[in-house]
Amino acid sequence: MTSEIDWRRAAACASLPQRYVFTRNPSEAEHTLRACNQCQIRRECEAVVDPSHTWFDGVSGGRLWRNGREVAV
Ligand code: SF4
Repeated sequence: MTSEIDWRRAAACASLPQRYVFTRNPSEAEHTLRACNQCQIRRECEAVVDPSHTWFDGVSGGRLWRNGREVAV
């Protein structure tokens, strides 16, 4: 067993256009949020991105973030 994650294979959003992942727009984020519901690395995604400490804009861990704050969608 390895602790390495093949992110490209594991990420349910990997085949989506990046503008749907790194977006501040809830309607664009919907596509990715649906993928998050099926994603096997959801918890790891948020742990690695660490949105609130990186002022992240986009979708991570099944939530939309803007300037590191969760956006209600
Ligand atoms: S949790 Fe969502 S944003 Fe993160 S890798 Fe999975 S599908 Fe992509």
